[in-house]
Amino acid sequence: MLLNDLLNVVANIAILTLVSYIYIKMIPKKKSYSLTRRQKIALIFLASMTSFILMSFSVDLPQQVKIDMRYNAMILLLYYIGPDVFVPASILTAVLRLTWGISDASVYTFLFYLVLSVTMLVLNKKASERFNSYTTGLILNTYYVIGHAIVLYFIYYDWKQTIAVSVFNFIFTSICLMVNMMFIEDMRADVRRYLDEIERAKSDYLTGLYNRREFSSYWRKIENDKKITHVALLMLDIDHFKCINDQYGHLNGDIILRQVASLLHVEDIEHEQIYRVGGEEFCIVLKNKSFSQQMAIAEKIRQTVENNPFKLENHQTIHLTVSVGMATSYKVKDMKNLYRLADHALYQAKERGRNQLVVLDLAERELKRIL
Ligand code: GH3
Ligand code: MG
Ligand code: MG
Repeated sequence: MLLNDLLNVVANIAILTLVSYIYIKMIPKKKSYSLTRRQKIALIFLASMTSFILMSFSVDLPQQVKIDMRYNAMILLLYYIGPDVFVPASILTAVLRLTWGISDASVYTFLFYLVLSVTMLVLNKKASERFNSYTTGLILNTYYVIGHAIVLYFIYYDWKQTIAVSVFNFIFTSICLMVNMMFIEDMRADVRRYLDEIERAKSDYLTGLYNRREFSSYWRKIENDKKITHVALLMLDIDHFKCINDQYGHLNGDIILRQVASLLHVEDIEHEQIYRVGGEEFCIVLKNKSFSQQMAIAEKIRQTVENNPFKLENHQTIHLTVSVGMATSYKVKDMKNLYRLADHALYQAKERGRNQLVVLDLAERELKRIL
């Protein structure tokens, strides 16, 4: 009998570990994400089926009381995936408990799970704001075991038996929960490291802006996004930057490059729209802005740089300017040609004396306006 219970404990741990692995694999490898409806349904199904299977390997006590790690699966689901998946899965688990036969134990457990479906949400929110994952997991599990103890009392009407079973339940489920959380946390740390590496590969080490390689993949994103109709590509190049390097040194040149990069975050331009594409060349993509808005933003950037006092290492300030080539397009989203055109516009801005904006239109392929 004892051997049988021991095997059931091992089976519970193995099943829960496998399911924890699947939970983490189903989370998209992104910093911020929202699960699709299909993924949510799959997780609800997986979690409820898991609790059903865990019931088959429960440690069975008198009066059809079952001790297993069903609620561990729910706690992990709530903590790592979220309430909108936890609530339906928890309710489904409550219903599935009834399929093991109607008895006092199954009906009380059913009602207890319904209460948990709501109260666990509040407890998880409060605890996870204050504590780390392990402490939060332990708090949630302690709450579950205390609730379970109350249910047990109404089945056994015997405090000694209730306490004995609950202590066993607490030790059994807590150890298993902690082991699984360690396993999940380790996998999540790997995912975080992977995401950091991806971010590093996309970024330019000096300015923190996205780099040329990422710029090319952003082109595809723009071209495939049907909601984007107006696109403008701004290409900026610092005027006479070589002289600045020669006069103040490369270290100061780097310091200036960082300051220029931070000046490019004007208006509502997001980080993913700004790129350092060359030594002192930057690109900005404007989405769904009218022509006059595009012009205003490009001109604002040019003026901001012109009027900004750039601080050198020795606190001396200098002034510099940028030339801006802007290629604009409506409906036609050929980013490669837009890039070529912006480059051409920049070349013209340099030719015309620098510190100015030249705009070309992709459809007309001619000068629309020169400032
Ligand atoms: P203009 O663009 O006005 O024609 O003149 P320029 O002197 O800026 O000419 P160009 O754009 O060809 O010069 C690029 C210079 O930028 C050459 C190089 O010394 C400098 N540069 C490129 N990358 C870096 C960098 O990462 N750090 C520093 N300090 N300088 C860089
Ligand atoms: Mg250059
Ligand atoms: Mg230059």
